[in-house]
Amino acid sequence: MKELPKVELHLHLEGAAPPAFIRGLAAEKKVDLSGIFDERGHYRYKGFGEFLKVYEAATSVLTSPEDYRRLTLAVLEESAANGVVYGETFLSPDFCGGRDVGAWREYLHAIREAAVEAERTMGITLRGIITCIRHFGPEKARETAVCAAETAGDWIVGFGIAGDESVLAPKDFLWSFDCAREAGLRITAHSGEWGAPDTIRDTLATLNPERLGHGVRSIEDLALVDELAERGTVLEVCPGSNVALGIYTDFRAHPINELDRRGVKVTISTDDPPFFHTTMAREYEELHRAFDWDEGQFRRIARQSLDAAFCDADTKARIAKKLEA
Ligand SMILES: [Zn+2]
Repeated sequence: MKELPKVELHLHLEGAAPPAFIRGLAAEKKVDLSGIFDERGHYRYKGFGEFLKVYEAATSVLTSPEDYRRLTLAVLEESAANGVVYGETFLSPDFCGGRDVGAWREYLHAIREAAVEAERTMGITLRGIITCIRHFGPEKARETAVCAAETAGDWIVGFGIAGDESVLAPKDFLWSFDCAREAGLRITAHSGEWGAPDTIRDTLATLNPERLGHGVRSIEDLALVDELAERGTVLEVCPGSNVALGIYTDFRAHPINELDRRGVKVTISTDDPPFFHTTMAREYEELHRAFDWDEGQFRRIARQSLDAAFCDADTKARIAKKLEA
């Protein structure tokens, strides 16, 4: 499964930080993070609350553009080793310069520098999607949207929202999404990971995203599933993440197969891979085991993912050749 060419649309850059990279950075900065790793060196946590704490501790050592340049290289190395030929990553100016446009530009410059190097040395192409953080509130989201609008272009291609789905509502972020859309950015939104189907309906009606982060709980309302299929809304599905956080007991209980069967455009991603002890190759292997998905199915989904990518047509045509190879 490793060698099959893959497209990944839902990956949080900080959440993809390899534990060894974070340990190295912590040692350089003389920060003691030993408590967040288990004896095998993996991130250690139980349940969603602890996951957030470990996540926060791990990412607390990422404090400069140079840290992000190295992080991006480490993450892309892992992705490329799993057969990913094109990826989009979520970036948050909240963590990169505290939403100051000037500081954000410096972080972005460093991240793009790493992406150029990875493309040259590993043959993987990366684009960025800026996300505001829902539980940080609408005020900060506006500042994030301004950072997004100021740097929108051929590399920053999308805008989205991540964070705690249980607080505030999509309408609270309308200004930010309008601002991003006016700057030419394509829209995705985390919805229906933890939230029930009516929260997905609200997200669709208010923000009109082309893609939904997760969206899997739509399966609890088949009329909504039909609507997603009709609208052509793409779901950025992260099965291993959902299983690791206990939304579904195992891959077999995950709705991705049923959503696909009902005509919803599903894609496969890892979300925060080392935190969920997963990789793109592992997602493929588990899906093969659970639903007997074969190479043809994976190739069809990779093509569907590329069609849903936010990059320009020339880049898509170039990646399409890699998928066909
Ligand atoms: Zn996510």
